[in-house]
Amino acid sequence: MEIQTKLCNRSNYGGKLKEVLYIVIHYTSNEGDTAKNNADYFAREALGAPASAHYFVDEKEIWSSVPVTHIAYHCGAKVYVHPECRNSNSIGVEMCLTGKGMAIRQATIDRTVQFVRELMAQYNVPLDHVLRHYDVTGKYCPGPFVDHPSMWQAFQKALAGEQEEEVMKVYKYVPEMPKWAQDTFTRLVQSGYIAKDEKGEIDVQESTLQPVVYLDRLTGGKIEKLPELMKDLGK
Ligand SMILES: [Zn+2]
Repeated sequence: MEIQTKLCNRSNYGGKLKEVLYIVIHYTSNEGDTAKNNADYFAREALGAPASAHYFVDEKEIWSSVPVTHIAYHCGAKVYVHPECRNSNSIGVEMCLTGKGMAIRQATIDRTVQFVRELMAQYNVPLDHVLRHYDVTGKYCPGPFVDHPSMWQAFQKALAGEQEEEVMKVYKYVPEMPKWAQDTFTRLVQSGYIAKDEKGEIDVQESTLQPVVYLDRLTGGKIEKLPELMKDLGK
């Protein structure tokens, strides 16, 4: 996956990482932030107190902050729940909260799953070594994965999926779609056949794109007129 890099301020991270045995999943608990916001912030600020992460993920981007060769301060504590997982042997991945409130958008979760699968393959980390911050120290992180263990189970299940199996992608906005689908879906949204929610988001599964665009071409680029065309057909 494409990863952007903005090196973390040197004072916010530690010495050499011994080995990568674990991957620890976090959320930023910071409403409305993005992966880039966080990378910029940790590059700019010398925090004084140890806090950092290797990667920040949002629904559109992945930003690398602390290099994986070095220790990020993401799961340190005085008392640990986990016997072995520490900053010195783990990669910390933060999910950002681009929306309102403390919810993690599904697109961010899906991107994190895809990215963590790559990390698992790259560093040979087994599924049972991918942990919530909560599993390491008992901290309420990622909040939704603590409140709803079923979300964490779904996350683990997605991680365990076959390598060639794509995580079902859901498009929230037309500009996120591939170029070849944008014109068709722009017209469907404008004509109200695809409804926006109160946040202005749509909810279109990736598997819908091809058949709808095909149908649009069959109707000569007038899919939004399809109900009328069907009526005419009956005459
Ligand atoms: Zn955390």
